[in-house]
Amino acid sequence: MREWEKNVRTVVPYVPGEQPKRKDIIKLNTNENPYPPSPMVAEALVAMTTGNMRKYPDPTAELLVSAIAAEYSLKPEQVFVGVGSDDVLAMAFLTFFNSDRPILFPDITYSFYDVWADVFRIPYECMPLNESFEIVPEDYYKENGGVIFPNPNAPTGALLSPEAVEDIIVHNQDVIVIVDEAYIDFGGISAVGLIEKYDNVLVVQTFSKSRSMAGMRIGYALGSRKLIRYLNDVKYSFNSYTMNETSIVLGTAALKDRGYFEETRARIIATRERAKKELADLGFSFADSRANFLFVTHESCPASELFEALKAEGIYVRYFRKPRIDNYLRITIGTDEEMEALYAFLRKYLHR
Ligand SMILES: *Cc1c(COP(=O)(O)O)cnc(C)c1O
Repeated sequence: MREWEKNVRTVVPYVPGEQPKRKDIIKLNTNENPYPPSPMVAEALVAMTTGNMRKYPDPTAELLVSAIAAEYSLKPEQVFVGVGSDDVLAMAFLTFFNSDRPILFPDITYSFYDVWADVFRIPYECMPLNESFEIVPEDYYKENGGVIFPNPNAPTGALLSPEAVEDIIVHNQDVIVIVDEAYIDFGGISAVGLIEKYDNVLVVQTFSKSRSMAGMRIGYALGSRKLIRYLNDVKYSFNSYTMNETSIVLGTAALKDRGYFEETRARIIATRERAKKELADLGFSFADSRANFLFVTHESCPASELFEALKAEGIYVRYFRKPRIDNYLRITIGTDEEMEALYAFLRKYLHR
């Protein structure tokens, strides 16, 4: 090792799902929305010119912040935006998790949490999900330096009730509690209603899943004015212009089309409920997902084998070679046609 390497901040990075170059893939591996964004986004894109690119974008992203605030009947001072919720969450870790006590999150969860904790030198402890892959609220009663969990959880899809979420918050009044709601629009009740009551709660959402805009990188946090001010102070000490002009304009356009949002998310929910029946008939079991994916295990065929067989067929799903979940596959809900192709292959492969 070279002398200078002793002072390098070394980390084991997060590994995102594959983005294959081939176009003929059925891509069910990164929880993207199978439907395009609202036609209003396409219209807004066509109306854009290169004229504004010369200038820096609005550092406050006021247009988008105000639109998000209006959507949730909040004040703009209660909204923080970032380059995907990954950026928002990273900022929140840096801003709020500065205790010597460990932060707490589930053992089976979004695999970026331990990476951010490592890169920011935040001590952490993982609370095991129960045998049904559910978060146990009582595990989060103990002393800690902060709490974060996704609801619904990823990659399990399991949803905590609003009562259970509030129970965790009630027992953690002296630290920041972050509820990562990347998938809440697919069938859960948001904790956003709790941010007026608890000034230590940050709710994080994204345009990447339910609003079909993963490529535009738009995420946001909703919380008390105080929390949002602290987040902005750190963000402006880092990079004032994180949100580019195009994302600000197109994200705002997406929010305006409430009808399209309702229609596409209802379609995904309907496809998911059909997928539960089809996959159960094929011998799979899974937690009752309220997200746009199912986390499945098969009664006889190992997940690693199925993963490879599906990939060879051009159907990409996600496989995590990790303790407790190495016999599971996470399958994103695609269009009905994509899902039919999946069932047809599985029927053939599993001789059903
Ligand atoms: C997808 C996802 C995110 C990040 O999404 P962005 O594209 O960065 O907005 C955050 N948390 C969870 C649990 C996710 O699944």
